[in-house]
Amino acid sequence: MFGVIEGTGFEIIRPEFADRILFHAHVERLWTGGRWCEGPAWFAAGRYLVWSDIPNDRMMRFDDTDGSVSVFRQPSQNANGNGIDRQGRLVTCEHLSRRVTRTGHDGSVTVLADRFEGRKFNSPNDVVVRADGSIWFTDPPYGILMDYEGRRADSEIGGCHVYRFDPDTDDVTAVATDYVKPNGLAFSPDEQYLYIADTGRSHDPDGPAHIRRHIVSDDGRTLSGGEVFATCSSGMFDGFRVDRDGYLWSSAGDGVHCLSPDGDLVGKIHIPETVANVCFGGPKLNRLFITATTSLYAVFLNSNGIHPAR
Ligand code: MG
Repeated sequence: MFGVIEGTGFEIIRPEFADRILFHAHVERLWTGGRWCEGPAWFAAGRYLVWSDIPNDRMMRFDDTDGSVSVFRQPSQNANGNGIDRQGRLVTCEHLSRRVTRTGHDGSVTVLADRFEGRKFNSPNDVVVRADGSIWFTDPPYGILMDYEGRRADSEIGGCHVYRFDPDTDDVTAVATDYVKPNGLAFSPDEQYLYIADTGRSHDPDGPAHIRRHIVSDDGRTLSGGEVFATCSSGMFDGFRVDRDGYLWSSAGDGVHCLSPDGDLVGKIHIPETVANVCFGGPKLNRLFITATTSLYAVFLNSNGIHPAR
């Protein structure tokens, strides 16, 4: 667990990246044994991390107090992305059941949304909660394209959209409908922008492998803009997070890519497995947890995340 792991390390592409990392910090492999690890979410009050192991139909839990790892939930409905709402509750995207759920403080699981205009979602993939409590999620078809991460089925909606769920009214609205396969998403620190990844290249060599940046309307209900913010130079951007200074830390084929607020690639954290998602955690939110294919990695940074229940 300690020491330098082969295939890991920082790559400084622009000098500003040096200010965001710790040179003497090394990437640790905290756990291995999954098939496709995704959806890390940090629970500050309990000092633990939850993440998904999608093909194994389970969610895992890393206890930061003693380093132990255990099964958090199994079966998990092939859960994928996870987030935390303003009350510190777990919000989960489920492939098999094609829905978004919330786990209450009493442990009960509530279905927040499972359809749009009467038709079932494809397979909700990733989720983020805005400061106003609204829940934003993406709906690509990965859970219905194959039985490995869900169950093969036809799309009822016939498109892959990004949605906003309003917990006050239970309304679901489509906020972006021009994506091929929308995937990871995160707000800028001031929530003026919403960044959304498109992994259309997974099934089309000419498809998108980029992150787009949308402007959030003043009432926090709709999006405009949506220009390409950054294109991935290795594999695809899947899940990502934004730090307090507005830098994006994104999954990519060769590790984690750090993008400046202007969309420039400033540095990388090399990881020897394809990375699917990341999440800031630890008591100071200065540790990046990295879900990468079979393993959970972590590295301390000189950058801090933003807690959703701040
Ligand atoms: Mg994803």
